[in-house]
Formats: sequence, structure tokens, C-alpha cells
Amino acid sequence: MLRVMSESMKAIRVERLGPPDVMELQDVPAPTPGPGEVRIEVEAVGINFADVLSVAGEYLTRTRVPYTPGMEFAGIVESLGEGVTGVQVGQRVAALGGSGALARYSVVNAAGLIPVPENLSGAQAAAFPVSYFTAYHGLKTLGRGVEGEWVLVQAAAGALGTASIQLAKAMGMHVIALASTYEKLALARDLGADVTILQDDPDRVQKVRDAAGGKGVPLILEVVGGKRFQESLDMAAPQGRIIVIGNASREQANLRPVELMKRNLTVTGLWLTSLMNDRAATMQAAQALAGLVGSGKVTPQVGSTYALADSARAFQDLLDRKTTGKVIIEPAR
Ligand code: NDP
Repeated sequence: MLRVMSESMKAIRVERLGPPDVMELQDVPAPTPGPGEVRIEVEAVGINFADVLSVAGEYLTRTRVPYTPGMEFAGIVESLGEGVTGVQVGQRVAALGGSGALARYSVVNAAGLIPVPENLSGAQAAAFPVSYFTAYHGLKTLGRGVEGEWVLVQAAAGALGTASIQLAKAMGMHVIALASTYEKLALARDLGADVTILQDDPDRVQKVRDAAGGKGVPLILEVVGGKRFQESLDMAAPQGRIIVIGNASREQANLRPVELMKRNLTVTGLWLTSLMNDRAATMQAAQALAGLVGSGKVTPQVGSTYALADSARAFQDLLDRKTTGKVIIEPAR
């Protein structure tokens, strides 16, 4: 008698929300691609702060358990579902989905695949979509940054921070970088930051204002939140634009709208997930980024890489501010 064994694979599963150590390596059935879908052998998963927040149940959207985390990845197309055209088996692609990438295989809709320039490795491709699209929208789409203007980049050695420095410099802007250690500031300088200041320098507000010519900074990419949000207001120039992208401190911030009036400040929220529904903005960003990355002018910054079994440690290191660039997990290791 012929017995059909269902194929299994290693994957990270989260059955209850909490700190990174709730993540477990399990054997689960490998997914099969339905109509319009492709199955990808995952080479590299880019870990975002949002993944840590999702596992903790603290993200902008509700996390439903059980689930396999991992929203951003790159890999090799392994099989095609019915009706898929324009994608070849063996091709390297990147994808940005809701979850499911921390596994040997992941199935995604073929329409959402992101082509990968030939000059990028799997890890570099996985380090690209979230950070670079977000940085572009922060600097340009919503931030309206222009050549010669100063921009303040917080958490400058992180995944979004390194992307922001590189893109700002490619756009001819001047960059002030804040980060928590001298090593992180050195990385920011290597990527082109013009001025680097320790995140906890007691004179940071004045130093940032002075660096931008004494009047404050016209554009701020705000990712820390909490009490640091008030400092961003203090660091901003008259008519400054503060783009709220994250809340890494996980603390509440207080905003008194009257304070914005005094210096005509603008505070704008940015969430990549909802901004992706703006097709025109997405196409414009994709075109600009393809040129910069394809020409090698901008290189996605891969930080530490981890095996699938070490996913909890990777998440904890990100949370503990031990990482630089994009944290990558390689499911084949
Ligand atoms: P990073 O690689 O930048 O890692 C997070 C960094 O945040 C840390 O390395 C640390 O840098 C900094 N940080 C500051 N305060 C704290 C704190 N109290 N606890 C932990 N970290 C802190 O991560 P990402 O690039 O994934 O994300 C950076 C920020 O941007 C996050 O807030 C994230 O949520 C946000 N983001 C938002 C997006 C959106 O669509 N809105 C898309 C992408 C990212 P240092 O040690 O130098 O202070």
C-alpha cells in the first residue's frame, strides 16, 4: 500500500504572547502554495522591532496565536501554485508579509513578491524592504526633506537608522546621528553621518540644535518616544517636521498641541503597513530605491546573523539594544 507522508519542516511557533523566550522551535507541516501563491525556501529573515512587539502582544495590530513570526524575508522560489506567471523556480525574491517567515518554507502571494537586484545576497535582500521603504517615506514622502537640509536620525546604528543615514546622504542631506554607544556612533559615521552625539549625553538637546546651525533641526525621524519625544520637540527648528515612526522606549509620550503652535511644528505619524496602500507613493519609493541599491550606492546593512534555533536570542539581543544593522535569522542553519 502506498502511504503519502505529509512533508514537515522546522518553524518557530508562538503559542502564548510574551517575551522572546515564548518562541519555540517545532516540527510543523510544510505549507503548499494555493492558486496565485509561491512557496519560497527561506534563506534569510529580517527581524524588525515590530516582530518583537508582535510576539509581546504590544504591536499596532492584534497578534493572534498560535503563529509563526517573521514578516520580512528573502529566499529562492521553490514551487509555484496554479496560475502563477512571471516568476521562475530558482529565482531569488524578497517578500513582505504579515507573518510566517521564521520557517524553512514560506508561502506568499506571487503578486506581493519584490524582485531582488543581482548584487544583493539573501541576507542583504532580507535587510532591505521594511527599513529602506520606511526610511524613504520618513525622509521624502512624509518628511519632504530636501538637499542641503539637516535631518536627525535616532537609534542611528539600528536597521532603520542605518538605512536612514544612507538614504539621507544619497539625497544630499546633512545627518545628525544619535545612538547609545561610541561603537554605534562610529558605524553611523562610517555610513556618512556628519555629526554624531551620544543618546545619553547630558547636553544632547543643545548639541543637536548647535550642530544644525543653532536654530534646531528641520526634520526629525522620531523612533524612541516616551520622554525622548519631548526632547525631539525641543531639538526641532521653527516649522520643523517630526516624523513619528516608532516607540522603542515603549513608554507613553505626552504631547501638548499648544506647544506645536509656538514654533509652528508639524508632527506626522508613519506606519509602513498602511502607507503601502498608497500605490503612487510606493511606486515612487520603489523606483528611487531600486536605482540606489541596484547601482550599489546604498548597501543594506546586515548585522548579526542567527540560526533558526537561536531566534529567541536574536529577538532578545534586539530588545537589549545589542545589535546594529538588520538582525538576520537563517532558517537553513
Ligand atoms: P533597530 O535595529 O533600530 O533596534 C532598535 C533600537 O532602538 C535599539 O538598537 C536602540 O538603539 C534603540 N532604542 C532606543 N531606546 C530603546 C529602548 N528603550 N529599548 C530598546 N531599544 C531602544 O530596530 P528597527 O530598525 O526594527 O526599528 C527602529 C524603530 O523604528 C522602532 O521603534 C520600530 O518600531 C520603528 N519602525 C517603525 C516602522 C513603521 O512603519 N512605523 C517601520 C520600521 C521600524 P540605541 O541603543 O542606539 O538607542
